[in-house]
Amino acid sequence: MVIKVEDIPPEGLEVEFKQEKRWWKQEEKRQFLNVDLARPVVAKISLSVMREKIHVTGKIETVLQLFCARCLEPFFFPLKVEMDFILFPRSLAPQHEAVRLKKEDMEIEFFDGVEINIDQIVAEQIFLHVPMKPICKPDCKGLCPVCGKNLNKETCNCERPRFSPFYEALKHLKKKAS
Ligand SMILES: [Zn+2]
Ligand SMILES: [Zn+2]
Repeated sequence: MVIKVEDIPPEGLEVEFKQEKRWWKQEEKRQFLNVDLARPVVAKISLSVMREKIHVTGKIETVLQLFCARCLEPFFFPLKVEMDFILFPRSLAPQHEAVRLKKEDMEIEFFDGVEINIDQIVAEQIFLHVPMKPICKPDCKGLCPVCGKNLNKETCNCERPRFSPFYEALKHLKKKAS
């Protein structure tokens, strides 16, 4: 979905965006990511023109399928993104005051000054909100470092180091003290 700046009325424009799961993998660079959509993406986006800039606000909702960094199993990750940022025409970027002031108070993104690519904005916002180390649940036990079994599902009899090096050091200190 592409919106032309000249088509945005002075009072602003409300855009409803909905895409099915397959939309995410249409983009070749996303096909190899461990991030997928489990539900369609629904977004409501408001665009308003501020001179040559565009103020973008809105909400994106979907459910992602991620892989747990500890147990490697896929799991669902509900995602809600609240957007509020300014789109700057790339041509204005280098000399513009607000850009020089760094991105302190407001988020700034860039566009070509003519067309706003809603698909790209939504995809980027989703990607920005994927956790670096996704965990399926807070108490995920992960995999056994010896046999590789998923310890959330089964137990094993492997000898695993039970104490952290820190704890061992502490014990040692205590022994010395007594
Ligand atoms: Zn896990
Ligand atoms: Zn094991």
